[in-house]
Amino acid sequence: MDEVLTGLLRPKSIAIIGASATPGKIGHTVVKNLVESGYQGGIYPVNPTADEILGLKVYKSVLDIPEPVDAAAITVPAKFVIDVTKECGEKGVKGLIVISSGFAEVGDTELEEELVRIANSYGMRVLGPNVVGTLSNSDNMNASFAPFLPLDGSASLVSQSGALLIAIDAITFTRRIGFDKLISIGNMSDVDFADTVAWLNEDENTKCITLYIEGITDGRRFIKESANTHKPIVVLKAGVSEHGAAAAASHTGSLAGAQKIYSAAFEQAGAIQATDLSDLFNCTLALSLQPPMQGDNLLVLTNGGGVGVLATDSAEEAGLPMKFAPEAVQEELKKHMPSFGSAKNPVDLTGMAGNEWYFDSTKYAFAHEWVDGLVVLYCETAMTNPMEIAKSLHRAITETGIKDKPVTISFVGGERSDEAMQWLVENGIPAYNDPHLAVKAMGTLRDYARLQELKNEPINNNHKVDKQAAMDIIEAVRANGRTGMTEIESKGIFKAYGLPVVQTSVVTSEEEAVETAESFGYPVVMKIVSPDILHKSDAGGVKVNIEDEVGVREAYKTILENAKAYKADAEIHGILIQEMAPWGTETIVGSVNDHTFGPTVMFGLGGIFVEVLKDVTFRVAPISEKEAQIMLDGIRGAPILDGVRGEAPRDRKALAEVLSRYAFMITDLSEEILESDANPILVYEEGKGVKVVDARIILTEK
Ligand code: ADP
Ligand code: MG
Repeated sequence: MDEVLTGLLRPKSIAIIGASATPGKIGHTVVKNLVESGYQGGIYPVNPTADEILGLKVYKSVLDIPEPVDAAAITVPAKFVIDVTKECGEKGVKGLIVISSGFAEVGDTELEEELVRIANSYGMRVLGPNVVGTLSNSDNMNASFAPFLPLDGSASLVSQSGALLIAIDAITFTRRIGFDKLISIGNMSDVDFADTVAWLNEDENTKCITLYIEGITDGRRFIKESANTHKPIVVLKAGVSEHGAAAAASHTGSLAGAQKIYSAAFEQAGAIQATDLSDLFNCTLALSLQPPMQGDNLLVLTNGGGVGVLATDSAEEAGLPMKFAPEAVQEELKKHMPSFGSAKNPVDLTGMAGNEWYFDSTKYAFAHEWVDGLVVLYCETAMTNPMEIAKSLHRAITETGIKDKPVTISFVGGERSDEAMQWLVENGIPAYNDPHLAVKAMGTLRDYARLQELKNEPINNNHKVDKQAAMDIIEAVRANGRTGMTEIESKGIFKAYGLPVVQTSVVTSEEEAVETAESFGYPVVMKIVSPDILHKSDAGGVKVNIEDEVGVREAYKTILENAKAYKADAEIHGILIQEMAPWGTETIVGSVNDHTFGPTVMFGLGGIFVEVLKDVTFRVAPISEKEAQIMLDGIRGAPILDGVRGEAPRDRKALAEVLSRYAFMITDLSEEILESDANPILVYEEGKGVKVVDARIILTEK
């Protein structure tokens, strides 16, 4: 565990620099909050003019404090922060909680950088600046200006928004979702999400890590640290940030939205992404109280047919379609319901179900090996007492002694049901006031388990490639003063990385064109080769299915004329003669070098509609072959690859291989390639492979 971060987040003593005797001032509030939260460590107010604050001795400088100081909460105006930081460094403080604002958030990045540089030079870490502070129930510590410690619990929240952190602090009591720590991360000048995730992973009082993120500084480090945790992570990502860095010269550039790449990155990090604030709480509740769901068999118990049907719909949506339980299970369950009940799934105990039937069926079902996750639904009835039902359910679950299988509950009813659910949550069982949410929570526990399996998939980083050949082409293009590469140059790179490109040659005369076409064999494709024409069809620069010498001669002339008409001063390198690939399903593979996550690969169905349909999926490169297969399934048009209308299934294996190789290429050449795409890659029947017919690379500026 990082000792310095421990000093910052679980300090044994705190100095409040800028402490004030005036109620209402932040420097006063922080002292008061520390005292009122029952913090047992040393509290040392620092202020050159005051003598005593809330009965505590005030020091003129942090250097006057006779005891060691772990953390310093700084509330002085920005212009004094540098001096104070130096004193803290001299004192041997471990971490600074910089509550003061007036740094990067108002445009003063220089001051912020100086603060971090000086702090780091003393070995100190900086939380913030511009933070609310940090709160920890297990340390009875409210080192912030948020009004009180949150409801106690086993999740910990890291928030980039201070206002939201304060709001969540209050919400914990009304939503009955407990947190051990609330950490305000502010401007993230130094301590960032990756740091806090790694530290919370080691924190004995945190079971679930909850993040509110607006933007990440080092995307790759975040993925790495998150993937390394053994605790669930839930993320709410706000804001579609400006993503202007990548020029939209390629298809991928125009398709890559920050949000899509963030979502991909969270998946690769093994983190659950919440859709909104409510969802963030619902997911946190499930993941902080229950183990992951290790298989797909969901059993739903209910006393009402209606909520059972609702649950069935929700299960489908949550990726856990309901299946009937095995006969033997149904037979046993029938013993705990009236004759008109149903032992299929959802299991309908009927409105006659009381404590005993709920107890017996829950205990049996939860213990049965077929069941991977149990959802119990209850509609309040005149004959039953919600609290008694809740207690029966809890006892049934506990008596099985099973701890590695999840259960979630929903009570639908009034105040008595709410109280019963509150009791359930306090006793470790997530309960929701809507059957949909109980099923969705189970889906989250299943998703979490699935994501953890993927984290261990090996990534092949040993493809046999000819990097030198690729670098030679790149250097020649750079020497020519360009960043846009022609199809033939791009294909040279693809080929060096083992991607299956169609046979291609450049010719510079009609005679040569005929000769080359004959040597390839008809039909052939002919295209313009010009660094000024990157979208060739737009310029009338592509002729397909040319069947003889006459066709070649005609195409040669027409393509050149079209190119001149399109752009009179276009630099023309010649005409491309290319093997005509047989028809196949058109797909697109592309890449962007994202400014947060680095090289990122994209997959979608290709062809002319790709930009309209935007049916594409992203992954931060490199990727395992398993991840590549998941990408193929990740688009809406995925069934097209299985073959539609009597077509044979497409060669997904070959396509996945090409995708992971492509991801390797853009990673290996991440210094050079800014954007690229292969549109289309034609995909053939199973066993018949794929062909890259077009390629485009935009180099980084150097
Ligand atoms: P553009 O620069 O306009 O994207 P392409 O090289 O992709 O040019 O060619 C346009 C279209 O022509 C492709 O989408 C594909 O349908 C077809 N095509 C191009 N090259 C070949 C080829 N070698 N074999 C078969 N079809 C091809
Ligand atoms: Mg193309």
